[in-house]
This record gives sequence, structure tokens and C-alpha cells, in this order.
Amino acid sequence: MTLDETHDPARTSWLDSANGHPDFPIQNLPLGVFDRGDGARIGVAIGDQILDLAAAAAILDPAWQRALSQPRLNDWLAHRSANHRALRHRLSALLSDPAHRAATEPRLVAQSAVTMQLPARIGDYTDFYVGIHHATNVGRQFRPDQPLMPNYKYVPIGYHGRASSVRVSGDPVIRPSGQRKPPEATEPTYSPSRRLDYELELGIWIGRGNPLGDPIPIADAADHIVGYTLLNDWSARDLQAWEYQPLGPFLAKNFLTTVSPWIVTADALRPFRAPMPPRPPGDPAPLPYLDDPADQATGALAIHLEVTLSTEAMRATGVPPHVLSKGEASAAMYWSAAQIVAHHSSNGCNLSPGDLIGTGTLSTKDATGLGSLLEISNGGKSPLALPSGEQRSFLEDGDELTLTGWCEAPGAVRIGFGTCTGRVTPAR
Ligand code: CA
Repeated sequence: MTLDETHDPARTSWLDSANGHPDFPIQNLPLGVFDRGDGARIGVAIGDQILDLAAAAAILDPAWQRALSQPRLNDWLAHRSANHRALRHRLSALLSDPAHRAATEPRLVAQSAVTMQLPARIGDYTDFYVGIHHATNVGRQFRPDQPLMPNYKYVPIGYHGRASSVRVSGDPVIRPSGQRKPPEATEPTYSPSRRLDYELELGIWIGRGNPLGDPIPIADAADHIVGYTLLNDWSARDLQAWEYQPLGPFLAKNFLTTVSPWIVTADALRPFRAPMPPRPPGDPAPLPYLDDPADQATGALAIHLEVTLSTEAMRATGVPPHVLSKGEASAAMYWSAAQIVAHHSSNGCNLSPGDLIGTGTLSTKDATGLGSLLEISNGGKSPLALPSGEQRSFLEDGDELTLTGWCEAPGAVRIGFGTCTGRVTPAR
């Protein structure tokens, strides 16, 4: 967990908008892909600008030029983590030292002038279920006497998601239709979902990955994580309730997953690492292939997560977005990101550069930071009252949902993830 001069809270940029920026000061330097109308390019966010890394190739290491000139980050993600760290050091120097200003400034592009794209071609997307409070809250709705299944504290539970329907923040959320069978109905119908929900998650971006057949040891797993993003696993609860047995989530989940555009690197997050929460007395120790003292000491991430909802009526009458949840739910992951990666590859399954992994819904233990409407409305039994006078159990057409995340710690400069947003449009 070594910090270096790129984390120095005293370091500032010659670019004024970076200094004091809530998300993108010089200590962050997240990677993304932008388009200003002439094609996709790789860039790094700094203040309200983006440094175009293809255009900046001449002032970076020539050995990186090919990978950084691609329309997606996959080739760069495949580089070794030492190169990722070297790029961070070089960018930090270019953007802080006034001696580099003349060469660097012409390669900046205003964020307001671009549209953001997915950072990588996602070959595979997997969603886990490591938010123990979410798993307990949801489990209790179905099994009051045994909310967690017996495997939960031994196995990081996950399922393979759908990569083709992952979209970047801002893409519309088209209400899915599907088979629903409410408990009182005798037969299912095919119709638009009436229980459309969101799930607050973190996304984990995989770096160089592993060959098929070669598991990633737990001690190496963190080195395969390039960075993190905000992730919304949109969920149709009525479709889910009818279809999920015996094989688990399918059409209730694969109609859309939204991610925030910037990959906040594992290096940028170093000041915000924390010990894994101690397991309650009586819980089993992780099996040896998931147990690493260094990961237990620093494998958690302290990220403030917040979710807001704005309805069509609220926007029309100037009512600000309503905060649905806030808290450091990321600190309540029962399994660390490294344990997720080690477990995913533990049977020899190969992970590839640009693969995306969701943590699972992250909820705080108390009611201030619940990560889904399923929990907030208690399965629809306790609708939420909004400041507009409206009520919500699940999402209605026109509702806009926004996830934000940021990190703060003593002796560190605040960094943020930007936003992950989507507005529900009617079923087609
Ligand atoms: Ca999920």
C-alpha cells in the first residue's frame, strides 16, 4: 500500500480546474474513452478537461504509443501493472510541472465537448454477490429463518452476466418486457416489467488476466485489477422472481448494465484502502486459496456511495434529485476484490484484459445506504415517499437514477468516480 509523489496532497496542477475538483484532481487521473465527433480516443480526466493520450504519445513513452492510440483500452489494460504505474507517474509530472505545460496543454479537450464511450471491449462480464447486508436483506424477504444460504461464507457467489448489453452512463433504460407471474395469478403473462429496480455496485476492470487452466493466486490477484467504476445492474424483480429457479438470473438482468465512463485506477485508490472488516465470531476462515494476510490488511475500499432519484414530475417542477441512499457500503463487502478475482480463476477459468466484474449490490448495515429499491421499499410493501408527493416502490417511466462515488481520507486529496446515470423509457 505504498504511497508516492502522485498521491502527495500538496501536488497541484497548472490546470486551475483540477485543483479542488471534487472528482478529478491530479491525484486521480482516471482512464476513459471519449469521442468529440471524429472517433473514439483514449484519454485521462484532469479537472474539467481530458488529456488526449493518442495525441500526447510523443511526450509519453514511445513503447506505449500503439496501445494508447487504439479506440478502446484493452491493449493498454493488457500491459503489466508496472507500466500502468509508470504512465500514472508520467501523467502526474506532465500535468503538475509548469515546464511541461506548453507541450501538454494543446492536447487537452474539454469534457463538455465530448461524449464518453465504454472504456473497453468487454469480452466477459460476471456479477458477484459479496454485499453481505444486501444478501441478508433480500434473503430475509424469502427465507426469514435463514437469510444467507450455507455456502455464502465459504464461496464468493457469482454468475456469468451478459457483456453485449453493458452500456456507458447516460444510455437510456428501456423498460424490459418478459414473463411475470404474480403469486395470485395462475398463469404467467408476457408484458412490461412492473418491478423495475436498480442495484448499486462497483465494477472491477481486469488487466492482463490469466491463461486458461492457470488460476491467479490470491497474493497476485490485486495485480490483475486495473481499476474500478460505478456499476448499475438494472433488475426486473417480477421477471426475476418467476424465472430464477433453478439456474439463477437471466432475462431479469441481461437487458442492460450501466457503468460510469472512467476507470479509477487501483493506484489512485491506494490512500483509501482499509482492512477487511473482521469476520463475526463463528464465521469460517476463508479457505487457503482465498486467504492472504496482505489482502486482509488492505483489501477493502472506503468509497462513499450515493444514489439519487429524479422523477419526471420532480424535474418539471424544479425539485432537486432525492437521495435514496448514502454510505460507505463498499467497506461492507464480505469478500475483497482480490478474493473475487482469485475465486473466479480458481478453477482455471481465464480472465482477459477488459473483462468486467460486478461486486454485487452494496448496502450498508443500517437503512441509510440500501443499494436497491427492493430493500428500500421492502419488496414493495413500504413505498417510498418523495418530496414531490409521489410514491415509489419500483422505477416508473421517466425516472432518472444516478450513482455517484468518491473517496476521502485524512492526509489525502478527495477523488471521485464521476456519475453513472440512466433514465427509464417506456417499454417498446
Ligand atoms: Ca447484481
